[in-house]
Amino acid sequence: MNLILLGPPGAGKGTQAKRLEDRYQIVQLSTGDMLRAEVKSGSELGQQAKAIMESGGLVSDELIINMISARIDQPDCQKGFILDGFPRTVKQAEALDAMLQDKGMEMNHVIELKVDDEALVGRVTGRYTCAKCGSGYHDEFQKPAKEGVCDKCEGTEFTRRADDNEETVRSRLGAYHESTAPILPYYGSKGVLKSVDGMAPIDEVTQQLYSILG
Ligand code: ADP
Ligand code: ADP
Ligand code: ZN
Repeated sequence: MNLILLGPPGAGKGTQAKRLEDRYQIVQLSTGDMLRAEVKSGSELGQQAKAIMESGGLVSDELIINMISARIDQPDCQKGFILDGFPRTVKQAEALDAMLQDKGMEMNHVIELKVDDEALVGRVTGRYTCAKCGSGYHDEFQKPAKEGVCDKCEGTEFTRRADDNEETVRSRLGAYHESTAPILPYYGSKGVLKSVDGMAPIDEVTQQLYSILG
């Protein structure tokens, strides 16, 4: 099963993708995570992306399309994948269609997580992650059972993304409305788009996704 989770920064794509990975035995492909790994390694791609990511703009379509195409060819994607953060422009969506056709693959579900802008800034600025296993948390909405200790791996170190500050979130939201929202009618007109209420609590959103995916 291959699917796309669409939605603005903070909509809950990563949180839900992790749950879908476990249930359906498919892999999450987050272009944001892939880019952050490139930045950390200091690769040429990372160097090109760094400043753009810090400002909240979008990295070039070509770079992203090549990165995801190579990733989909890896053996762990054969059982299926969840695209999180890609496609983010109509050009990327068109390139994805062509890419899947070339590879003899198909997209089974395109799901939008609908969340009001006002809720997103608080979600993103309160977000943090376990440094050891990558589990996602929130200062208010998703605290670990024991304060300062990761539920999943008992790690005690956490990180926050450099771009998860209010100013950058506002630029990222601007980029979403300008460049990414036009993808919705693109998939809508193909009749494959479904929406879920991303304002609901995390577990309820997961249940809505399970009921769509079976
Ligand atoms: P995205 O991947 O779409 O940018 P995340 O999954 O990282 O979003 O979620 C952003 C933050 O909001 C995280 O800290 C997460 O714990 C929290 N969060 C996710 N879904 C919900 C929800 N339905 N209600 C409240 N907080 C949520
Ligand atoms: P969020 O989960 O909050 O939506 P991401 O982790 O997906 O944020 O993306 C972080 C940054 O990485 C973006 O602000 C953008 O600069 C870059 N990026 C990620 N995916 C893409 C993409 N598909 N196209 C262009 N830029 C991207
Ligand atoms: Zn952990």
